[in-house]
Amino acid sequence: MSKRAERVVLALGSNLGDRTATLAGAVRDLVALPGAALGAVSPVYESAAVKLDGVDENAPRYLNCVVLIDYTGDPYDLLDAVNAIEAEHGRVRAERWGDRTLDIDIILFGKLVLDDDRLTLPHPRAAERDFVLAPWGDIDADAIIPGRGSVRDLLAATGNMVRRAADAPSAPFEGARQ
Ligand code: ADP
Ligand code: MG
Repeated sequence: MSKRAERVVLALGSNLGDRTATLAGAVRDLVALPGAALGAVSPVYESAAVKLDGVDENAPRYLNCVVLIDYTGDPYDLLDAVNAIEAEHGRVRAERWGDRTLDIDIILFGKLVLDDDRLTLPHPRAAERDFVLAPWGDIDADAIIPGRGSVRDLLAATGNMVRRAADAPSAPFEGARQ
């Protein structure tokens, strides 16, 4: 277990149920984890669902946000904790990339590079996902995905189709700080 806090980037998404309440609850749960301290929470964005065969305009739309935490601990313990938070919020693992009340992906864990059965870091698809890059860039304008480039350039390359959620306040998680 690392004794030093690492900057961790987490991407949250919800497309079922009370999406705003789920994201806010998940932020609260993440910040309450042993070894975690809140860095920043992004504004909420809205995006179309992406399925294995591409964008599905008929699926319920996602709300997305990105959370930065300073985490002292093991990356696999964090993955277990994140999976437990998904389960607490009612996620049922049916199909890969299927509709879900809550998805939490670990985008970066400090400078750690990993690729095994459980964990790939940096997250392999983050560099192509506007719904990760846009909220992340809002709270860390100089962010970089090692080996891929700056979040700003990567976001521009996606076409940046994602938008702030119209019905979500710009800072919906003030309550998560308590
Ligand atoms: P997806 O997010 O691609 O829709 P899931 O959320 O069901 O899929 O995750 C599937 C598996 O991905 C998890 O059980 C986890 O072990 C693995 N995984 C690999 N790398 C990561 C990562 N960086 N963050 C989160 N999960 C990861
Ligand atoms: Mg996931």
